[in-house]
Amino acid sequence: MKGKIMAWPLLAVAAFLVTISLLPGSCADQIMRVEEKTMNEAREAMIEQLIAYGVRDEKVIAAMRKVKRHNFLPTGYFSRDAYGDHPLPIGHNQTISQPYIVAYMTERISPKPGEKVLEIGTGSGYQAAVLAELGADVYSIEIVPELASHSIEALASEGYKCTVKCGDGYQGWAEHAPFSVIIVTCAPEELPEKLVEQLADDGRMILPLGAYSQRLVILRKKGNSVVTEDDLPVRFVPMIKGPGPH
Ligand code: SAH
Repeated sequence: MKGKIMAWPLLAVAAFLVTISLLPGSCADQIMRVEEKTMNEAREAMIEQLIAYGVRDEKVIAAMRKVKRHNFLPTGYFSRDAYGDHPLPIGHNQTISQPYIVAYMTERISPKPGEKVLEIGTGSGYQAAVLAELGADVYSIEIVPELASHSIEALASEGYKCTVKCGDGYQGWAEHAPFSVIIVTCAPEELPEKLVEQLADDGRMILPLGAYSQRLVILRKKGNSVVTEDDLPVRFVPMIKGPGPH
């Protein structure tokens, strides 16, 4: 009799375990799915806002609809507002640019599939992922070692093949030059000469230029001539000077 009474709780536990093993996923999986759905909706709202702000390039819109911005935030910097139109902190006093600026800069330089693109300031890896999603062959340089390692991991785990190195962007990346496109996501006070040298003939470069008052500058190279165009006023983190010549 006593043995029978003791068996009931065991049977109940066994039945419970069988039932949850038949559910479509564990509790943690379910929470992850709800979180993913919230992020997908937030990303869609970001896209609508980009279109309302005037972003028109269908390819850029498609790329930004695909890249999961929230997965590029380093551990400890996750934000439920990852798709809000503002920069996000990523540690080391650095930020990912606001989505509109990412879209705008990408649209202005419009990388084509297979084009070699050099990014200066990998940060989280998000901008590099948007460029890779457009089919560009992306090289990116980050000066903060922790951010370089973080972006390498984030890009790989999101399935993007970008070549990232830790180094000083003022030096460019001579081994892989010339680049059809150069995009600088930190602000130098003056135009970095080596980057202009490493730009291909017919190449284009976009960068925020200036110390306190900054403007986006778009530069086009044709043979020996370089044409620059002043664009939007912006606010980027400064481009840090490494130990080499600048
Ligand atoms: N494109 C990034 C945003 C970068 S913020 C993203 O999508 O997340 C600017 C980045 O430029 C920071 O990570 C900063 O560490 C880096 N940076 C600053 N000076 C640099 C330099 N001289 N060379 C390379 N990276 C630099």
